[in-house]
Amino acid sequence: MSQHFDLIAIGGGSGGLAAAEQAAQLGRRVAVIDPGPLGGTCVNRGCVPKKVMWYAAQLAQAVRDGAGFGVRTKDQYFDWSTLVGGRNQFVERINDYWDGYVKQEGITDISGHARLVDARTIEVEGNRYSADHIVIATGSRPLVPRMPGAELGITSDGFFELAQQPRRVAIIGGGYVGVELAGVLRALGSEVTVVALEERVLWLFDPMVGEALAQTMSRDGIRLGLQFEVSALERRADGLALIPRTGEPLTGFDTIIWAVGRAPNSADLGLEAAGVEVAPNRLIKVDAFQNTNVAGVYAIGDVTGREPLTPVAIAAGRRLARRLFNGETELKLDYDNVPTVVFSHPPVGRVGLTEPEARARYGDTLTVYETRFTPMRYALNEHGPETAMKLVCTGPEERVVGIHLIGDGVDEMLQGFAVALKMGATKADLDDTVAIHPTSAEELVTLKVPVRRPGDALP
Ligand SMILES: Cc1cc2nc3c(=O)[nH]c(=O)nc-3n(C[C@H](O)[C@H](O)[C@H](O)COP(=O)(O)OP(=O)(O)OC[C@H]3O[C@@H](n4cnc5c(N)ncnc54)[C@H](O)[C@@H]3O)c2cc1C
Repeated sequence: MSQHFDLIAIGGGSGGLAAAEQAAQLGRRVAVIDPGPLGGTCVNRGCVPKKVMWYAAQLAQAVRDGAGFGVRTKDQYFDWSTLVGGRNQFVERINDYWDGYVKQEGITDISGHARLVDARTIEVEGNRYSADHIVIATGSRPLVPRMPGAELGITSDGFFELAQQPRRVAIIGGGYVGVELAGVLRALGSEVTVVALEERVLWLFDPMVGEALAQTMSRDGIRLGLQFEVSALERRADGLALIPRTGEPLTGFDTIIWAVGRAPNSADLGLEAAGVEVAPNRLIKVDAFQNTNVAGVYAIGDVTGREPLTPVAIAAGRRLARRLFNGETELKLDYDNVPTVVFSHPPVGRVGLTEPEARARYGDTLTVYETRFTPMRYALNEHGPETAMKLVCTGPEERVVGIHLIGDGVDEMLQGFAVALKMGATKADLDDTVAIHPTSAEELVTLKVPVRRPGDALP
C-alpha cells in the first residue's frame, strides 16, 4: 500500500527542503526524497564548501599583505588536509542539522532515487508514495562536453574530493565557478591557468567587472587564455595537456577542471510517464507560479534554469508552499533584480541590468557613473586589487537600474544596495544618504560626474 502526502519534494536541496519545511509549518503531511545527504548541491558540493575554501584563500592573502603593516609571520604555511578535513566536518554538521530538523518538523525523509509513475505517484526503490502536490527540485550537475580525453578532467564535484592540493591546474571556463576555483587555488599557492571560449571572464556580468577581474587575475599570476577553444585533453609525459582547436597546446598540468556550465537533473525521473514537458535543453518548463504543464506537479530551482542560486530556489519553494497551503493564491517569486555575488579574488557583486542590457531595454536614456580606486586596506602594500563600481541609471529622474561592483567587501556590501534598487531608488536618494567613512561602500553614495549621459556612445 502506498503512503499518501499533501506534498512530496523530489530533491532534498535548497528548493526541495524550503518547500517541504514551509508546507510542514503550515500543518501539512510532507515528505522529501533524496538519495544523498540532505542539503543538496549548496551544502555538499557548492556554496558552503566553496565559501570555506574562499575564506582560507582570503586568510592566506591577508597573511601575505600583513607585512606592509608590520604584521609578519615567521613561516607562512598552508596545509590542504587541515582545511579539507575541517571543511568536511563542517558540511557533515550541516547534514546532521538537516536530519534533525526534518524529524523535528515532522517531515518524512525518504532516502533514494525518485521516479514519477504518474502525476500523483512516485516510486523509490520499489516503494510507492503518492501526493496531491509534487515539487520537482532535483537541481543540476556539472557538464562535461564530449571530446577525446574529456574524462581526464574533473569537475567542481571532483574539486571538493581532492585529498591533495593540485600544484599545476588548468580550469576550463571563465564563468563564476571557474573564476572562483581559480582565485582559491592561486591564493593557496597553486599555479593556475584559466582558458575560456569567450572574449572575457564573467561574460554575463557588466563588461567593467570582467575586465577588472581579468587584470587582477593576471596580476596575481593566473595565466588567462581567452577565446581558447579546447578540442581534446591528453595525457603526455610531462602531465595533462589542453589541446586547442587552433594554436599550441598548453601542457604540464596535474589537474584539469571542467567549469563549462551545468545541466538539469531531469533525466531518469519519469517525466514522460507523468506527461511533464521539458525544453530541448532538458530544463523543466514552468510558468511564473512554478507550475509545470501537469496540474499538481511543480518545479523549482536549478532544474528550471531560472537564476540558479540557492536563495532563489529557497524563495521559490517557500512561496509555492504558501500559495498551495496558505490561501496566498497570487503569490509567486519576482525573478527581477536578483542580487548575486561571485566569490572571486576580489569578489564581484551585481544587481539589476548590465549597461548593455539597460541600453537594450531603455535605449538612449542612461546616465552611468563609475569609479575605480585602491581601497585603504592596501594603503601600505605594494599592490592591491583595484576596486571598481558602476551605477547604471535611467531617465531624467536617474532611477538606478544596475549596480556592479568588484573589490574587497563588495560581497557584504551589495545586499543593502539591492534593497534600495528593488525599492526604486534614484541617484538623488543615494546622494541624499550620508556616507560611512572611511569605507569602500561610501563611494557608491558620493559619485559625482557621470562617465556617460544620454546621447553618449558606449565605450
Ligand atoms: C561550485 C558551486 C558553487 C556555488 N556557489 C553558490 C553560491 O555561492 N551562492 C549561491 O546562491 N549558489 C551557489 N551555487 C548554486 C547552488 O548550489 C544551486 O543554485 C542550488 O543548490 C540549487 O538548489 P536546488 O534545490 O535547485 O538543487 P540542489 O541543491 O542541487 O538539490 C537537488 C537535490 O536533488 C537530488 N536529486 C536529484 N535527482 C533526484 C531524484 N531522481 N530523486 C531524488 N532526489 C534527486 C540531489 O541528490 C540533490 O540533493 C553553487 C553551485 C556550485 C556547483
